[in-house]
Amino acid sequence: MKRYGIFGGTFNPPHYGHLLAAQTALEHCSLDRILLIPNRIPPHKQLEEPGGNPEHRYNMILLAARGNPDFQVLRTELDDERTSFSLYTVEKLKTEFPGGSFSLITGADSLLKSSWYRLDDLLGLLENFYIVTRPGYDTGELAEHIESLILKNADRFKTVPIPGFDISSTGIRERVKNGRSIRYMVPEAVEKYIHENELYL
Ligand code: ATP
Ligand code: MG
Repeated sequence: MKRYGIFGGTFNPPHYGHLLAAQTALEHCSLDRILLIPNRIPPHKQLEEPGGNPEHRYNMILLAARGNPDFQVLRTELDDERTSFSLYTVEKLKTEFPGGSFSLITGADSLLKSSWYRLDDLLGLLENFYIVTRPGYDTGELAEHIESLILKNADRFKTVPIPGFDISSTGIRERVKNGRSIRYMVPEAVEKYIHENELYL
């Protein structure tokens, strides 16, 4: 049975923090493949155009994942009219990848800040829920949160230590806007794409 790790995000733009987290989770959790799934624009959160445009974000994550045979980019959420709830995504993946087992991979910040739509049902479809560490988000606080959030399912939540790389898409957009370099923060092809398409100015 193939074990898939679902790594979702806005990827606006994708950066080495995402790639390093995904690659580390792949190895640490002995997964067969990472599925990189860009969110559609959520109805309540307007992403600024042109950078936030779903097709630009899709193109950039494709460029970022290029050359890594263990990464696969999917349009599962981009092509779904519904709100991008993980539950819907996993339901669709179950039919697209029959016999596969699925785990969610998410950064510590997402777990601490988000609530999850029908978490019990979601956990019913998942093997594990992996939480990757992120600089600035305390693992002690995380452990407490996990316990309070889902006492009965706490054993399904596993923390994955990632080499701390304190960068964010927000910081990268800010740098582009201010004419500063984003070299070594995003893959070269992504950097080139941002400049050629005049994103984040
Ligand atoms: P933004 O600043 O626009 O929110 P971001 O850098 O947080 O962007 P997202 O697309 O929101 O990127 O994140 C996708 C996933 O990657 C989330 O689960 C997030 O926690 C995780 N992630 C992002 N950056 C890092 C990082 N530097 N280290 C570890 N995990 C990260
Ligand atoms: Mg974020």
